[in-house]
Amino acid sequence: MDKRDFDAVVVGSGPNGLAAAITLQQAGLSVLILEAKDAIGGGLRSAELTLPGFVHDIGSAIHPLAAESPFFKTLPLAEHGLNFLTPPVAAAHPFDTGRAATLVASLADTAHRLGPDEKAYRQLIQPIVRDWPVLAPAILGPLRIPKHPLAMARFGLDAVTSATMLAKRFQTLEARGLWAGMAAHAIQPLTNVTTSAIGLVLMAMGHVRGWPLPEGGAQVIARALASYFVSLGAKSKQMLPLAPSVNCPPPTLYFSTSRRGSCSRLRAIPSRRSTAGN
Ligand SMILES: Cc1cc2nc3c(=O)[nH]c(=O)nc-3n(C[C@H](O)[C@H](O)[C@H](O)COP(=O)(O)OP(=O)(O)OC[C@H]3O[C@@H](n4cnc5c(N)ncnc54)[C@H](O)[C@@H]3O)c2cc1C
Repeated sequence: MDKRDFDAVVVGSGPNGLAAAITLQQAGLSVLILEAKDAIGGGLRSAELTLPGFVHDIGSAIHPLAAESPFFKTLPLAEHGLNFLTPPVAAAHPFDTGRAATLVASLADTAHRLGPDEKAYRQLIQPIVRDWPVLAPAILGPLRIPKHPLAMARFGLDAVTSATMLAKRFQTLEARGLWAGMAAHAIQPLTNVTTSAIGLVLMAMGHVRGWPLPEGGAQVIARALASYFVSLGAKSKQMLPLAPSVNCPPPTLYFSTSRRGSCSRLRAIPSRRSTAGN
C-alpha cells in the first residue's frame, strides 16, 4: 500500500484530522490518515498513566464544544460508542476565602449566586444563550459571512475585547474569578484582544448544554470518529502510524493538521465520486 493508492491524505488523527477524513470519505474519496503517534486521537488521547484500569485524559477532558459541534451532530457517534455524561456543576472556581463561584445549568441560579454581579452576568451571557442556535454555525463552523449578522455582531463586540477589559463589568471576586477561569482557555495573556471569545462561549455552554465529558475518557470521541470512518468503507489500515516527516508526492489532496506543516499543500477536491474504501 502506498500513499498514491488514495485520493486524499490527512496528516494527523486529532478531532480536526478525523473530521476532515470523514468529510472526504463521505464525499466518495478514499482517504489515508497518517498519525505520528502510536495511538490515534491527538488531543483526544487517554491512557492509564497511573494505576491499571485508571484512564487519564492526556490533553482534553471536558467537551461542551464536541457535544455542540454542528458537524459532530450530523454523525451517529452514539452508535459508535460515544456517550456524554453531564455533571450538575459545569465548573467551580474556589477562593482562599473558602467560597467558590460555580457555573451551573441554570443561568438564573448562576447569576443569582454572584450577588451584586447578577445583573451584569445576565446582561453578558443571556443574549449568547438565547442566540446560540443561530450563533453556533458561525462560531463553530468554517469562516463565512454569518447568516445572522446582528446576533453575530452582538456577540462579536464582546468577544473581540480582552478578558481583563471585560472583567471590569464585574465587581465581585466570585464573578471575576469565574470569568478568569473561563477566559484562561484562550491559553494566552488575558490582556490580549479576543481572549473574551472562548470565555463567553464556554460560559454560555454551561447553560446551553452543560459541560459534558465522554464516558471512558476523551479517547472515546476519537474511537467513535474512527469507527464511523471505518463504517464508511475505510479500512482500519487506512490509519497509519508514521514518522513526523511526510513527503508530498501528488496523489490528489492533502489536509494537514500538523503544526510543522509538513504537508501544507492543499488542492481542490476533485469532482470524481468513487466508492469509498479501497
Ligand atoms: C492541556 C490541554 C488541555 C485541553 N483541554 C481541552 C478540553 O478539556 N476540551 C476541549 O474541547 N479542548 C481542550 N484542549 C484543546 C484540544 O485538545 C484541541 O483543540 C484539539 O486537540 C485540536 O485538534 P486537532 O485535530 O487540530 O489537533 P491535535 O488534537 O493536536 O491532533 C494533531 C495530530 O496530528 C499528529 N501529527 C502532527 N504532525 C504530524 C506529522 N507531521 N505526521 C503525522 N502526524 C502528525 C499529532 O501526533 C496529533 O495526533 C486542550 C488542549 C491542551 C493542550
